[in-house]
Amino acid sequence: MFFSIALDGPSGAGKSTLARALAASLSFIYMDTGALYRTVGYLAFLNHIPPTDAPAVTAALSSARVEIRFLDGSQHAFLNDTDVSDEIRLPEMSRYASLVSVIPEVRTLLLKPQRDFAASHNVIMDGRDIGTVVLPDATVKIFLTASPEERAARRFLELQQRGTPQPYESVLADILERDARDSTRAVAPLKKAPDAITVDTTGLTFEQSYQKLYTIIQQKLAPLQ
Ligand code: C5P
Repeated sequence: MFFSIALDGPSGAGKSTLARALAASLSFIYMDTGALYRTVGYLAFLNHIPPTDAPAVTAALSSARVEIRFLDGSQHAFLNDTDVSDEIRLPEMSRYASLVSVIPEVRTLLLKPQRDFAASHNVIMDGRDIGTVVLPDATVKIFLTASPEERAARRFLELQQRGTPQPYESVLADILERDARDSTRAVAPLKKAPDAITVDTTGLTFEQSYQKLYTIIQQKLAPLQ
């Protein structure tokens, strides 16, 4: 039997940093499901398809291979056997990912690879709909959140460190726009699963957030091991 930890929440709540650290200490595999949507966004971008053109994006995805592969323990995104892990992190791909993720057919096509992976590994998956749609029977469900201003400040720093700086105001506007779109879409909107535990990381250090999550996870896993 495999264990799965669903870590959902809005952009910039700290999901990926925390998930990576938790996966390392639990010996679980960390899967960042946003990379799949980013790769579909990049596929649209490469083919000059507007990310809002649902039939064209769906047709392109149906004849493409979007995959996550683990190389030396770290996740890479592949589009038709090309490693696009760096390209999908370009700031513009956040918007593309958010727009293509509204398309129901895109979500349906990406469901199986996510479920198949969780069925055969101990996994911590971060996303928006893991606890509600992808893994409704996940062993542990956490909904991670933080104020939009704090999330924008973290993202601002991250973009600076990556060498792709953006003004704080535009980062905040982008976060608010994505929050609104992710939360109001018809299929698999960003929302807390009824049985998820909410953790608000506003004002918490990485270490404090990590400890909170680690305790919640251990309390659930310990009796099962
Ligand atoms: O997590 P990340 O910011 O990389 O995700 C990019 C976009 O992909 C999100 O804004 C969201 O619209 C979409 N996404 C999703 N469902 C997931 C993961 C990401 O709709 N499970």
